[in-house]
Amino acid sequence: MRLISHASYQPKLLFGLVLVILGWVLICQAHAAANQNQPAVRLSNSSITQIKLTDWLFIQTQNDIKDLPTLEQQPASTWRKVTRKDTQVIGVKDMWLRFSIYSPDDFQTRILALDNPLLDSIVLYHKINGSLVASTQMGDSLAFENRPLQSNTFLFPFALKPGETHQFLLKIDSNGSLNLPLVLWSPNDLTQVIETQNLNHGLQIGFLVAIGVFSLFIALASGSFSFSYYSGYVLSLALLMATIYGVSFRYLWPDWPHIQNVIIPFIIPMVMGFNLMFTEKVLLLKYHNLQMLRACRILAAISFALAFILPFISYRIAIQLLIYFVTLVCVILTIFAAMQVWAGQRNARLYGFGRVTLLISCIFSAGIYLGIFDINIALQTPIMLGVTLEVITMAAVLAIRYNDERKAKLRIQQQALEQAERLRVTREESLKAEAESNERLEQMVQERTLELEITLRELNEVNQKLTEQNTIDSLTGVKNRSVFDRRLIAEGRISRRQQTPMALLMLDIDKFKNINDQYGHLAGDHTLQIIAHSLSENLKRPTDLVSRFGGEEFAIILPNTDEDGAMQVAEIIRKAIEVLNIKWDSHDIPLTVSIGISVAIVDSDDHPTILLDQADKALYLAKRGGRNKVCLYSAESEAS
Ligand code: GH3
Ligand code: MG
Ligand code: MG
Repeated sequence: MRLISHASYQPKLLFGLVLVILGWVLICQAHAAANQNQPAVRLSNSSITQIKLTDWLFIQTQNDIKDLPTLEQQPASTWRKVTRKDTQVIGVKDMWLRFSIYSPDDFQTRILALDNPLLDSIVLYHKINGSLVASTQMGDSLAFENRPLQSNTFLFPFALKPGETHQFLLKIDSNGSLNLPLVLWSPNDLTQVIETQNLNHGLQIGFLVAIGVFSLFIALASGSFSFSYYSGYVLSLALLMATIYGVSFRYLWPDWPHIQNVIIPFIIPMVMGFNLMFTEKVLLLKYHNLQMLRACRILAAISFALAFILPFISYRIAIQLLIYFVTLVCVILTIFAAMQVWAGQRNARLYGFGRVTLLISCIFSAGIYLGIFDINIALQTPIMLGVTLEVITMAAVLAIRYNDERKAKLRIQQQALEQAERLRVTREESLKAEAESNERLEQMVQERTLELEITLRELNEVNQKLTEQNTIDSLTGVKNRSVFDRRLIAEGRISRRQQTPMALLMLDIDKFKNINDQYGHLAGDHTLQIIAHSLSENLKRPTDLVSRFGGEEFAIILPNTDEDGAMQVAEIIRKAIEVLNIKWDSHDIPLTVSIGISVAIVDSDDHPTILLDQADKALYLAKRGGRNKVCLYSAESEAS
């Protein structure tokens, strides 16, 4: 049961116009008195243990009152009840509030709690029965240790004795939003509530930090941008919450109160920036909508720029700017999500759900703040629940996206493997084809080489045959004149080098013309063949050479043969031919030959030619001497 002591005023009704008017005046006066007399919270041991003081708060309407004495000089009419509007402002300076507590019968200990850890400065004057007993300074512009009770929120403990009226005067200066959850607690309940609240806050912050750090590790391990943005988003969100709950001031920077003034304008844009980058990734805007992608990136760039600009400008302006910016971004992101859902993107549905959850929770909180919903929960609870749900949803979106990416990567890998396999097979086939063609080519080359070799050999044989034919006299089958000429020079050199005698025999058939004339040319040819055969038969040494010198003349070279030897050979030949029995058409053809011989050890290059000439001369002599003769050349014989 609430024991709320509004000053009750009874309208005094009189029957009659005067009384009515008089009554009206009295009512007006009573109302004024009610405002000025400041109704006090009336406490007893049975009073509820958590009393919201908003209804008992009075505000000083005069501006620029710096201290208590000046305030106390102000007439009572300058005070009026606090309305909701008074607390819906951002940034106040020298704002004075007051309320009174009255304990008629009981001893009481109570704690005054101001659950807005972001208020910059609160000076609290405590009066008992009109006399000042304490003045305390609180607020986050002071180091944490200066607080009367070491708590995240501002607490002021005091004791009441029966019959005492305690008056509290609060001078508030703050750049931030003037949220004033001023509550009067009994110590036991406050402890319980604070414990529960701390547990909740700890859970939320712990949950966010755990998710944030986990995502950070995944981001570092996998190099994934979406995870890093998500991690940035969740960790900055954790820091924002810890700051709003007063936890960061208490545990992270208790001795640097000025950080309190810059952290909110810094961290909110960071949250927005990371959120935008994360959205861009998770909605795959790069592939689905380039305009949205550009918008997200521009807004993210603005966010990060704001994070480094806003801490340095007026806190009030910064907060107002942020309210517009955050609202704008939230609306834009929700529209983007809706459009992507409309476009049929799978990830966008879950993302959109997260966004809408957060939006609804914000609207809910705003509803509570504006008094549209009268629900007995803390102002920030819906937002905090919304944020938690959003973070979980986004984690799920991220997981789905990661899985999609993994599957796509696997698919690509599979395709790459298949392609590599195809490439390998093609390469193998081409290698095989190349090997085969090489083999064929080699075979062809071998065949061609063989053919060439055969051709060459044949050519060689033909050549040899041709050369041989060139050396042979076609009619008689003995060597021809050109062989004789070459051989004459060669044997001449040997004779000269070895100093051995060389003999030349010039042989002419006697009266050959007659044979031709008598039996015909064919008979003459036949005779020539038989004589040539006979000559070859009678030359025994392999180095001896018989050749047809021309017409019916034969020349014979006898290397390493002296005059006697030459004479012997010539005689043998002459006799052998003399006895030849040559027949032609059953006629006997009588045949003799004359032979001229020259022998000498060759002593100059011209000598062989001279020898030939001498042999010819000797032949001439043999002819002259009656034919069928052998004649050896000598200088004397030439002279005769
Ligand atoms: P000689 O030598 O005893 O003084 O009398 P000859 O009759 O042999 O005279 P000569 O040497 O002047 O005549 C050579 C003749 O040999 C001329 C030509 O008709 C004949 N003769 C030359 N070469 C060939 C040949 O290849 N075949 C034939 N059938 N006759 C040839
Ligand atoms: Mg002749
Ligand atoms: Mg002759």
